[in-house]
Amino acid sequence: MTEAKIRLYVDQALAAGQPVALDEAQANYLFNVMRLVVGSRVKLFNGRDGEWLAVVEHAAKRNGILRCTAHSAALVAPPDLWLLFAPIKKARTDFIVEKAVELGAARLIPVQTRFTNERMREDKLRAHAVEAAEQCEATYVPPLDDLIPLDKLLAGWDPARRILWADEGLQGRAALLQAAPGPWAVLIGPEGGFSPEERIKLSGMPCVTPISLGPRILRADTAAVAALTIWQTTLGDWL
Ligand code: SAH
Repeated sequence: MTEAKIRLYVDQALAAGQPVALDEAQANYLFNVMRLVVGSRVKLFNGRDGEWLAVVEHAAKRNGILRCTAHSAALVAPPDLWLLFAPIKKARTDFIVEKAVELGAARLIPVQTRFTNERMREDKLRAHAVEAAEQCEATYVPPLDDLIPLDKLLAGWDPARRILWADEGLQGRAALLQAAPGPWAVLIGPEGGFSPEERIKLSGMPCVTPISLGPRILRADTAAVAALTIWQTTLGDWL
């Protein structure tokens, strides 16, 4: 029997002996694109039950059935870190989502800020998050919220969750992250940066910690990777 190389996300329960029905897109991918046949093995995960080995029981053009055989990895949930980001150009927003999944974020929240002028497709970004998890051997896929205005999000913010605010206005001033454990969120602005009103609002919130990402202005996608890395190496699961 060949080794399972393909990892597939399915939105169904996984347990020993559990049959998993494939939808048309999944059947197309496994049987037409990847050429799997009855008896082939795949790895499955659903974000809740860890990773399972499964064997192809029925393979058709538009559907198929897999059966879970063995538990191959436990669920590893990322630390309680959310990423709040303003949508930017499509390929760069895709990059932010992909890297956030790889680096380990628990929830992704796109925010509409004053200077956000890009649109986004939540369904496409969710599919992108799934793809990233399939590739990086993650057993968890962070949920992606619908776009929400930043001021609305902040108005209902639970102060117990700290916000690490990547503040381009601090550029060049060193800012060490105080190691306060607990739930956190990283906030990254759009290419236009934060407006004066947004800066006043954020500066006045005790749960907000501004951080500098060095003396150069980074693009928002680079800033997201840098800020997530700083948090992960200080408070997260890279320790
Ligand atoms: N146009 C703005 C820069 C926006 S960069 C300007 O010229 O001021 C996009 C986002 O990346 C910023 O809102 C911030 O969240 C983050 N960022 C970029 N460079 C940064 C830095 N050196 N320090 C902290 N945050 C930074």
